[in-house]
Amino acid sequence: MQKELESNINSLNFKISEASKVVSKNLNDIFLIAVSKKKSIEHIITAHELGINNFGENYAQELKNKAINLDKNINWHFIGPLQTNKAKIVAKYADWIHTIDRKKIAEKINDECKKINKVISACIQINISKESTKSGISPEDMLVFAKYVNSMENINLKGIMVLPSLGEENRKQMQMSKLLHEELVSAFPDAKYLSMGTTNDFETAIVSGSNMIRVGELIFGKR
Ligand SMILES: *Cc1c(COP(=O)(O)O)cnc(C)c1O
Repeated sequence: MQKELESNINSLNFKISEASKVVSKNLNDIFLIAVSKKKSIEHIITAHELGINNFGENYAQELKNKAINLDKNINWHFIGPLQTNKAKIVAKYADWIHTIDRKKIAEKINDECKKINKVISACIQINISKESTKSGISPEDMLVFAKYVNSMENINLKGIMVLPSLGEENRKQMQMSKLLHEELVSAFPDAKYLSMGTTNDFETAIVSGSNMIRVGELIFGKR
C-alpha cells in the first residue's frame, strides 16, 4: 500500500503544482485535504507518514472511530451532510466543518463547541449549481448567513465550500464560486478559503481560484 500511496501522492502533488503555476501560485498555496471516507485506519496512517496531515470524513461515527484511534496531530475535516443529532460528535472530533448550511446546525455546533471550550473552523456550504437535490445555501443568501455565523463565539468562519456539477457547467460554476468568495473575503477578510475541487475537477478548480481541495480516490484508490 505504501508504494501505491506514495506514487499517487507524488503524481497528485505534481498536478497541483502544474495547475497552480497557471494562476501564479505553487504547491504550498493549495491546502490539500485527503478524503479518507470508507478507507481504513491503515490507509490514513500510511498517508500521514507520507506527509499528509489533513483528512476528510463524511460520516460522524466513522470520524469518531478514526479520530480516537489516530495521531492527535491529524486535522479532521467533516465534509458530509450534517444532522443535528450528530452535531455533538462532529463538534468534538472535527477540527473543521465544511458543510454549515443552516442556522439550526450552526447554533447546535456552536453550543456543543462552547460546552467543550473549543473554537471550530468552518466553511459555509453554498449550493452553486442550484440543484434542489444538493445541500448548501443559495448564493444570494451568503453574506447575511456569513454575518450570522461570524457572530458565533465558538465558530471561526474560514470560507465557503462548493460542489460544482461535473460536465459542461463545471467551469462556469467554479468561476461563479470564485466571484462569490471574493465578495465574502471583502466583508470577512479571515474567510480566505475557497474549498472546491475533488479527484474529478481539482485542476480546473485550482485554475479557477480554489485554494483548498478535497481529494479522495486519486490518493487512496476507488472506494
Ligand atoms: C467524497 C467527497 C470528496 C472526495 O471525492 P473523490 O472523488 O474521492 O476525490 C470531496 N468532497 C466531498 C464533499 C465528498 O463527499
